[in-house]
Amino acid sequence: MKIIECLIIGSGPAGYTAAIYASRANLNPVLIQGLQPGGQLTTTNDVENYPGYPQGVTGSMMMEDFQKQAERFGTKNIFGTVTKVDFSKVKGGIHKVMIDNKTEIHTKTVIISTGASAKYLGLESEKKYMGSGVSACAVCDGFFFKNQDVVVVGGGDSAAEEATYLAKLCKKVYLLVRKDEMRASKIMQKRVFETNNLEVLFNHETLEIQGEKTVNAVKVFDSKNKTEKIINATGFFLAIGHNPNTEIFKGQLDMDDVGYLITKSDRSLTNIPGVFASGDAQDSIYRQAITAAGSGCMAALDAEKYLSELD
Ligand code: NDP
Repeated sequence: MKIIECLIIGSGPAGYTAAIYASRANLNPVLIQGLQPGGQLTTTNDVENYPGYPQGVTGSMMMEDFQKQAERFGTKNIFGTVTKVDFSKVKGGIHKVMIDNKTEIHTKTVIISTGASAKYLGLESEKKYMGSGVSACAVCDGFFFKNQDVVVVGGGDSAAEEATYLAKLCKKVYLLVRKDEMRASKIMQKRVFETNNLEVLFNHETLEIQGEKTVNAVKVFDSKNKTEKIINATGFFLAIGHNPNTEIFKGQLDMDDVGYLITKSDRSLTNIPGVFASGDAQDSIYRQAITAAGSGCMAALDAEKYLSELD
C-alpha cells in the first residue's frame, strides 16, 4: 500500500491552514473532511473578526476559500469520516487511519484538526433558529445583537464570560442558570454580579425559543416557583460547554478529563511521534477561527520538521 507523507483530519480553519502549509511544503497532504465539511464556522452567519475580510464573510464562504487555497497547492480532499486509528508508537513508524470503515490510509504523519462541538440543549426550536438568533459563540455573533436584549444559558466560566462580553454590547443580558448557584469561578461570578445590565435568573430552564423568521422571545420555567414566563430577547446564546471531537483517539493519545488533546507546551506535538494536534481539539481556551488557523500552521511546520529529521 502507498504510504503518504501527511494526513490531515478535519476541515475547519486548523485543518485547511495545515493543508495550505503542508501542500506548499510538498508533503502532498490528504485531508479528510469529516461529517461537517468546513467545521463549526459553517454554522455561523457572518464572520467579521477574521483579518483579511474587511466587509466580513459568511462562515461557509470563508471555508470554501480555505478549501480552494489548499487545493490550489495540491491538497487532496476526501469526503469521509475517520472510523479507526492505529498509531505507531515509534519515531518514523507508519500510522494507519481507517476512513468510513472501508479505506485504510497509511501515513508518516497525522495532523488532527477535528475541532469541538458546542453542546446544545436539544430543543427543536433551538435547531429551527440556529444562525437566526441562536448561537453558541458570543465573540463570533454578539456584535449582531448590539443594543438588543439577549439570553445566555449556562452557569460555568464560559457562560460568565459570554454574558459579561455580551453585556458590553447589548442593552440587557439575562443569564439562565439551571441550579441555585453558578459553577463559574468566584472571580468570574463577581464580574457577572457587578455588571448592571446583566440579570442572573437562578433555577431557570429554557422551555422554548420563540420567533418568526428570527428569535424574539424565550419561554422559561422557574423551577423554584414552578412558573413559566416569557423573556423578550432577540438572541439566545448557549454556553453549556463544548465537547472536543477526540473520542476516536482515546487510549492512544493523551487527553485531559474533558477530552482535549494534550500537546507539548507551545507546540503541536502529541505523545505519539508524527501525530500533531491543532485547533479546538486541543484548545479549550481561545477557540477562535484565527487561533485555530495559527495552530494548524504550527502543526504543519512541526510535521515538516519531523519528516525532515527522518531523512
Ligand atoms: P462547564 O462544564 O464548566 O459548565 C457548563 C455549565 O453549563 C454548568 O453551569 C452547567 O450547569 C450548565 N449546563 C450544562 N448542561 C446544561 C443544560 N442542559 N441546561 C442548562 N445548563 C446546563 O463548561 P464551560 O464551558 O463553562 O467551561 C469549560 C472549562 O473551560 C472549565 O474548566 C472552565 O473553567 C474553563 N473556562 C475558563 C475560562 C476562563 O478562565 N476565562 C473561560 C471559559 C471556560 P450545572 O452547573 O448545573 O451542571
